[in-house]
Amino acid sequence: MSAHSHAGVFAPPAQGAGKPGLIGLDRPALEAALAGLGLPAFRARQVWHWLYHRGVTSFEAMTTLAKPVRQLLDDTFSIDRPEVTRDQESVDGTRKWLIRMVDGQEVETVHIPESDRGALCVSSQVGCTLTCRFCHTGTQPLVRNLGVAEILAQILTARDALNEWPAPGANPNETVSTLTNIVMMGMGEPLYNYDNVSAALKIAMDGEGIAISKRRITLSTSGVVPMMRRCGAELGVNLAVSLHAVNDAIRDELMPINKAYPVAELMRACREYPGATNARRITFEYVMLKGVNDSLIDAQELVRLLNGIPAKVNLIPFNPWPGSGFECSSRAQIERFARVVMDAGYPSPVREPRGRDILAACGQLRSDSLRQKKIKPETALESVV
Ligand code: SAH
Ligand code: SF4
Repeated sequence: MSAHSHAGVFAPPAQGAGKPGLIGLDRPALEAALAGLGLPAFRARQVWHWLYHRGVTSFEAMTTLAKPVRQLLDDTFSIDRPEVTRDQESVDGTRKWLIRMVDGQEVETVHIPESDRGALCVSSQVGCTLTCRFCHTGTQPLVRNLGVAEILAQILTARDALNEWPAPGANPNETVSTLTNIVMMGMGEPLYNYDNVSAALKIAMDGEGIAISKRRITLSTSGVVPMMRRCGAELGVNLAVSLHAVNDAIRDELMPINKAYPVAELMRACREYPGATNARRITFEYVMLKGVNDSLIDAQELVRLLNGIPAKVNLIPFNPWPGSGFECSSRAQIERFARVVMDAGYPSPVREPRGRDILAACGQLRSDSLRQKKIKPETALESVV
């Protein structure tokens, strides 16, 4: 199945009960929607500001609009957020929200705070079609794309919960924020839902709204080669590639997508990724699986593959989940592996697992409601690549 045909098969539902939603419309579409009510373009700019800069959740709160205009908008449109059905906090401060969409499907969003910054790990799909063997998300049987509003809603919901919408007239440079970065590393394969992901990210990047710059956004892909160039050219965001193995034999086993886009093709697409420089390197994610991909020969082969690519390597200790059948490499082996990569001139930090206690770490996301219903991994969708 091609990357494009996913859009139709796994389409998100229409939003809102009856009233059309305004969240997720780009500026021209928002203007057109308001023009349909006879409102001029500057009203659309005001509504944009309230939605994405101030983060209000009701038309009533849009106090620069006359009362009858607010009423008219409220009668016609919805700006409702989806429901947060669970809000958990890890001992390390990582926070995870389970968000229920209008059709009852749920996704997880994770906030990883640091002292003066923090990343929000955003989901692009309910579940994932790709069934990578080490990833819990790939065992979730129900899969569909998230809509633009549903992707954005994760960011809006996190800002609400963290109480980080700027106060009126506040200098954004002085506003303390722990939601400074976005990583498209939650549930799903973002390049299988490119149209909705790109529309949501463009709204998130808009300087008069959420205003998170492309330099603070990273999109992680399992290697959907035909979509990589477009992502770089149109969005210019940082790219992370889930490599996890250095040859086709092992990668075919771990990641079914490798059969469609093998290692050599993937590396070629990385070499051609628009905008990658030594100052803006491509991150290669590499999950450390004991006895599977963690030998020093693997490390040397990795260095050979990266030759000529502005790269850094993120070594991810495997995060266990029940029934995965894998073990994490030992700390000593991870350090030996990192040393080989570092000695070849590539930064290779070891990612600290965050939020393990609330199953919020890399690869552990899977809708909690399904987990509680104990749906077995065997019922997962077959890979559709
Ligand atoms: N589908 C995209 C986005 C998910 S990003 C992708 O695969 O790139 C999540 C990252 O965590 C990916 O690099 C993924 O391979 C990795 N991962 C998945 N399961 C993991 C696990 N159990 N332990 C550690 N990392 C894992
Ligand atoms: Fe999907 Fe990424 Fe998990 Fe693979 S690692 S199953 S592509 S979410």
